[in-house]
Amino acid sequence: MFKALVLTQEGENTLANITQIQESDLPEGEVLVDVAYSSLNYKDGLAITGIGRIIRHFPMVPGIDFSGVVNESADPRYKKGDEVILTGWGVGENHWGGMAEKARVKADWLVPMPLTCNAQKAMMIGTAGLTAMLCVQALQDAKITPESGDILVTGASGGVGSVAVSLLARLGYKVVASSGRVEQNSELLLSLGASEVIERSELEQDSRPLEKQRWAGIVDTVGNKVLATALAQMNYGGAAAICGLAGGFALPTTVMPFILRGVSLLGIDSVSCPLDKRQAAWERVIELLPESYYQQAAQTIELDEVAAYADKIVNGQVTGRILVKV
Ligand code: NDP
Repeated sequence: MFKALVLTQEGENTLANITQIQESDLPEGEVLVDVAYSSLNYKDGLAITGIGRIIRHFPMVPGIDFSGVVNESADPRYKKGDEVILTGWGVGENHWGGMAEKARVKADWLVPMPLTCNAQKAMMIGTAGLTAMLCVQALQDAKITPESGDILVTGASGGVGSVAVSLLARLGYKVVASSGRVEQNSELLLSLGASEVIERSELEQDSRPLEKQRWAGIVDTVGNKVLATALAQMNYGGAAAICGLAGGFALPTTVMPFILRGVSLLGIDSVSCPLDKRQAAWERVIELLPESYYQQAAQTIELDEVAAYADKIVNGQVTGRILVKV
C-alpha cells in the first residue's frame, strides 16, 4: 500500500483526501515510477477545487507533473533506476497523476532527466517552467530580440510568470512585470530580473483598439482584458506568446493590432508538445534558470497541504512555484 491524494466527487463538490492505494489500482502504462516530487500548477488548483471541471471521471489522483525513479518498465527506453520527468499528456486530468508515491504511465509521455538536473529542481521548474521556456522560445523564433524593445510578462508573480521573468532577463531582455500584487511581490520580481513592475489594473481596463506602442513582446498567462490592452499597446511587428487564462478565457480585442501593426499571436501548449521540442526546452530551461531562482521563488509543501494550497492558487495568492514532496 502507498499514499495518494485522491479526488472524489460528491454532488457538486470535489473532495480531496489522502488515501492508501495499491499498485493494482493504478491505470495501465508501460512504466511504473516511484514519484519523488510533484508540483502545484494553476490547472491542479482548478482540478482539486473542482472549479475548473478539469476532471471528467472520478476517483482521480491529481498532479499534472512529477519527477521520480523508474521502478519497473516494459519499454526498452527505460529501465529500473532511471530518473524521469513527466508533464502534461492529460496526466492528473484523465490519467492518475503525480500526487501519489507511485504512478504508472505510458513510456512515450516521459522525458529522461537531463544530466545537470535532479528530481527536486525538475519540479521546481515543472509544467509552469517548461511553458515559460516554450513562450520565450516562441518569441525568439518570431525574431523578437533584446534590441526589439520591452517585453511584458503578465501574471508575473505566478509560476509561469516568475520563470519567464527570470529567463528573459537572463537572455538580456528588458522585462516589465505586470502583477496584481505589486506591493507584496515587486522586490522579488526585481530580484528575478524585471526592470520595472507595473500594476495589473493599468492593463485591466477597456482599451482603445490601438494605444501608444509599448511592447515588443508579451508572455501572457492571464488573458482577458489584460491581454487585450497589451495587444493594443504592441509595437509594430511585435509578438505575443499566450499560454494562460488566470484572468479568464475571454479575449475582448479587435483585429486592429494584427492588421495595422502586423502583430502576431503565438499560442503555446505544453500538454501535447512533441517530444523533441519538449526535451530541447527542458535542456534549455535548466541551462538558463539561475540557481537563485530556486532559492527565491520556490517553496516546498507536503501532500497533506496540497488541498489548502489549491484554494490559494486559484485565488491568485501563490507566489512563484510550489514543489510538492510526495
Ligand atoms: P499561477 O497561479 O502560479 O500564476 C497565475 C498568476 O496570474 C498569479 O500569480 C497572478 O499573478 C495572476 N492572476 C491570478 N488571478 C488573476 C486574475 N483574476 N486576473 C488577472 N491575473 C490573475 O499559475 P501558473 O503560472 O501555473 O499558470 C498560469 C496560467 O497559465 C494558468 O491559466 C494556466 O492554466 C496556464 N498554463 C498553460 C499552460 C499551457 O500549456 N498552455 C501550461 C501551464 C500553465 P499576479 O498576482 O502577479 O498578477
